[in-house]
Amino acid sequence: MITKLLIEQHFHGAYGVDFNKANVNDVLEVANKIKKDGVGGIFPTLVTDSIENTQKQIKVIKEASKKQKDGAKIFGVHLEGIFLNPEKKGIHNPVHFLEPTIENFKKIADDFIRIVTLAPELCRTYMKNGENLITYLKNKGIKVQAGHCIGGDLAGCDGVTHMFNAMSGINHRTKSTALSALINDSLYAEVIADGYHVNDDALKLLFKSKPADKILLISDSLPCARTNLSSFVFADEKVYFDGEKATSAQGTLAGSSKLLGNAMIKNNVKINPEFISHYNNLKSACFRFNAVKAKYGPNSSEYVNAFKERQIAETLYANAKGLISDNSRNAFNEDSAKSILKSYTNNVHSWYA
Ligand SMILES: [Zn+2]
Repeated sequence: MITKLLIEQHFHGAYGVDFNKANVNDVLEVANKIKKDGVGGIFPTLVTDSIENTQKQIKVIKEASKKQKDGAKIFGVHLEGIFLNPEKKGIHNPVHFLEPTIENFKKIADDFIRIVTLAPELCRTYMKNGENLITYLKNKGIKVQAGHCIGGDLAGCDGVTHMFNAMSGINHRTKSTALSALINDSLYAEVIADGYHVNDDALKLLFKSKPADKILLISDSLPCARTNLSSFVFADEKVYFDGEKATSAQGTLAGSSKLLGNAMIKNNVKINPEFISHYNNLKSACFRFNAVKAKYGPNSSEYVNAFKERQIAETLYANAKGLISDNSRNAFNEDSAKSILKSYTNNVHSWYA
């Protein structure tokens, strides 16, 4: 499946809707509205909550996916929580945290959970019959992302959640989640490129370090996105929204107030649009190459063509890396960014292919 629209794999709501409280119609409303904002596929994301409410909301989202006739396609639930490290709790309410055991996961298990964010360092202490929660989820075909964690050993994980945020950062003396994510080419890295969650230099470091098809742009948006709300309750906590940033009373930056499309445009302010264009082309070429390889095998002419196409895209992308510069800010043109956005193909599909 290839779409020209964006795929959002990490967001908690928008238009006043909170997925942890939404009913079926609310979820359908978000799916319909967000498609008009340029997003074609979604993984509604649940923040840490009680077992009962988590179970209930997974069923609501699943029900909405069965009922939907149009709007952004609901691919599954991203469960961000319950098995997180209290040291990096962010806005999550640790009252609901559970030990990351297979037994505890079974209390909420549902085949509509497609991505789980967890703290890998905690999972490894709970082995049973040679299995821990990470290997158990992988065997079920669920994507595992390290997030709200401090561990530097990401073995078994598919990727990391909101790169640099709520994880141990870059330190040259010790292993950390951020370092492991940067140096391990096979790991996907979600990033909130809204201009607040990750600074320019960190964003450039990410783009320079990771293979182009391993960066997943996300918004991590909150219910306040596309509303005039000045405050609301999220994850049992009052969150204040000044029209740009959403923060707790203690000043902790919560999720984004931008949707993926807005965040991308903001991101284009940080990086030359031409670079983004080559970056997106490469992502599409990688996706086509993987799909062709799986379908036709390495001895086909289709494979050879897709390989050449990817090589060209790689060269263009490598040359375009030189375009990353602070001066690009001045050359930024919102209309060109919007047109780039229209042709953007998010890599999440190859992840799910
Ligand atoms: Zn989140």
